[in-house]
Amino acid sequence: MSIPLTPMQQADQFGAHNYHPLPVVIRSASGAWVTDDGGKRYLDMLSSYSALNQGHRHPRILQAARDQLERVTLTSRAFHNDQLGPFLQRLSEVSGFRRALPMNSGAEAVETGLKACRKWGYTVKGVPEGRARILVASNNFHGRTISIVSFSTEAQYRDGFGPFTPGFDVVPYGDSAAMEAAITPDTVAILAEPIQGEAGVVLPPEGYLRALRAMCDRHRVLLFLDEIQTGLGRTGKMWAFEHEGIRPDCITVAKALGGGVYPISAFCADDELMDVFAPGDHGSTFGGNPLAAAIGRAALDVIVEENLPARAAELGGYFMERLHELGSPHVREVRGRGLLIGVELHERSGPARPYCEALKELGVLCKDTHGQVIRFAPPLVVAREDLDFALEQVAKVLT
Ligand SMILES: *Cc1c(COP(=O)(O)O)cnc(C)c1O
Repeated sequence: MSIPLTPMQQADQFGAHNYHPLPVVIRSASGAWVTDDGGKRYLDMLSSYSALNQGHRHPRILQAARDQLERVTLTSRAFHNDQLGPFLQRLSEVSGFRRALPMNSGAEAVETGLKACRKWGYTVKGVPEGRARILVASNNFHGRTISIVSFSTEAQYRDGFGPFTPGFDVVPYGDSAAMEAAITPDTVAILAEPIQGEAGVVLPPEGYLRALRAMCDRHRVLLFLDEIQTGLGRTGKMWAFEHEGIRPDCITVAKALGGGVYPISAFCADDELMDVFAPGDHGSTFGGNPLAAAIGRAALDVIVEENLPARAAELGGYFMERLHELGSPHVREVRGRGLLIGVELHERSGPARPYCEALKELGVLCKDTHGQVIRFAPPLVVAREDLDFALEQVAKVLT
């Protein structure tokens, strides 16, 4: 008799090799903690790239899901359902944008926004047909569709996947003068992340978003901010753009909008922009389904009612301060905002992955990003004592 394959071997043999996961097999989870198939517990310091801001299996979100499972889960948008309206109104209250268009993944929400901005360019701004251009930032991460990787500056995201979608111009992130210089009469939007998470938790210079807002107003260009990773409390405010006291014209939201339970995303904008969509222009079979809507509304309620943005601000400040105090010889820089924190290692200390592997052995799960950076982004419901536990392990590995 042959020996049965382990789940890790099955994933390796029957799956695509488009990820390089740490060798841990998670079987259960609760709050900020996960348990592997051998019963060992780990503190989740990645939270699925900020999709678990409310923690694993938040009781209120699970209850909303259970209740909805008992009624109706999928209607398609060919019919109304009684959950979508309440979800959209709640999202509008939380986002400050009048309208939202629900999709499933983050990349789809970004695609939705790109389509909206282009159509606004033609129908409202008056850009000649086929000429609309969108400015993006270097080292951006907005997802993995062909159009989105068309304007990635990460060679690996593009290699072998062309031909690419035209109409995008890349400008160095954080350089507002270069951005303004790149605007032409055909520019319809500037798309940027308020903080670049995947690039290694890169914060733009103070005033960058304000400068983008001002130039968009001067040139009648839409400011489109991707809040998929930074939004919903992660950086210490509900939205990262609030740190600069500005308001973009539109945002994308995903990840924690699904409360760690279900993929839910949305493109949010006010009437003038959202009204470019007419019936049949755009859609998604699962987008806005009643199960998603019920879960999304509960996910938003938890963030608001548990004051998770304020928690992220307080605990993030604490964690970053303690990381600074470690005085590790391997650490080049500790940076971040709220509970989105990057620890950049010196070149001479080697890549970040072995440190993440060592932390895994010590019961802390985190992931390297861009070679030299360890990203710490625990669920926002994490306890201060949990962070102290993480710091003890980080100290062992980094000093
Ligand atoms: C994760 C992410 C996306 C893509 O979301 P998916 O759900 O993986 O498609 C887009 N933009 C940003 C900033 C992200 O962090």
